[in-house]
Amino acid sequence: MSGSEIGVGNVLVFGSFFYPYLLSSYAFLTSSSVGRFYFEPDHVYRSAFQRDRDRIIHCASFRRMSEKMQVFTADFGSYHRTRLTHTLEVVCIARTVGRVLGLNEDLIEAASLLHDIGHPPFGHCGESVLNSLLLVVGGFDHNMQALRIVEKLERRYVDFPGLNLSRELLDGQSYKVLKSFTPLLEIQVVDVADSVAYDTHDVDDAMELGLLGADQLMQTALWKCSSKRVRERWSNLNSVEFRRAVVHDLIDVQVSDILEATKRRIIETGIKTAEEATSLPVLVAPGEEIAEMKREMEAFLLEQVYRHPKVMLLRNRVTGWINEIFEYYVNKTEELPERYTNVLNQEGERRAVADFIADMTDRSARSINCGIKN
Ligand code: MG
Repeated sequence: MSGSEIGVGNVLVFGSFFYPYLLSSYAFLTSSSVGRFYFEPDHVYRSAFQRDRDRIIHCASFRRMSEKMQVFTADFGSYHRTRLTHTLEVVCIARTVGRVLGLNEDLIEAASLLHDIGHPPFGHCGESVLNSLLLVVGGFDHNMQALRIVEKLERRYVDFPGLNLSRELLDGQSYKVLKSFTPLLEIQVVDVADSVAYDTHDVDDAMELGLLGADQLMQTALWKCSSKRVRERWSNLNSVEFRRAVVHDLIDVQVSDILEATKRRIIETGIKTAEEATSLPVLVAPGEEIAEMKREMEAFLLEQVYRHPKVMLLRNRVTGWINEIFEYYVNKTEELPERYTNVLNQEGERRAVADFIADMTDRSARSINCGIKN
């Protein structure tokens, strides 16, 4: 057990403003970690997962998320989320949920920081284009790419390729690819926090950009319930103040519901250890009513925001840019940076070019696209 962990029985304290930060018996203890692929002695004053967190934050792929889009590119303005700010919002929500549940906050923080690091430029648009181009060699998936980055592509350390992260972080990222096993509760927390963040902030960003109006959102039960609570509390808000208050409420209501529903499941199943939780279906999730409202909100966002004409126009442009860059470098692999030589030799030109493109920011992809046309 590391110095910062105190293993005790179930210490769930709900409905209180003060949560003693003691680990629950079903928290994953850092001392139980399988360890790293390449052996390294323990650090003197940082736990293994604190060290993982630092390695992720200090790597180049993490920094590049600042210029990778979440839903909207820099052309849309400067208010909306980037992949990096979305990641930081997931960290905040996940740590709150994890601390209240008495889980391992260091593991949650590291897994949250890692979860979107494999996104190529232009988010899911870029991912979909790369996947089409790589179907013959196994396709492209941003969760899989995150594993390639931290196991192979990042080169920061003398003794090993990648970041040599703890096995539990790699398993957590594998879960996002495979969904074939139940992950640790800490990883489950990251998954729900991601969903809370994008379901709420994509609404906020789309409203700020004028792509969505409050009247349209009244078609969704989640927005309708939160706006009713806000109107009951404040009667004279202008439209911007109202939107911000509803967005805050949307997060609060989802997080509170996740905590209450998860607490119920933990009590009902009677789990006592981290291992027992992985033998059951996922426990950290909203209750059925909010889950249904979230499904409705996600279907609404798909139609009204992700398929908005302005977003579809961007998608068409991105498809052209990435196809052109891919075709150019597949035919001129000698122009790839030297760091892709190993991948080129071991996995072929399509994977090497995809790794090269996935590494680009939105801005660098556009500038490289312009460059190869001139
Ligand atoms: Mg995410």
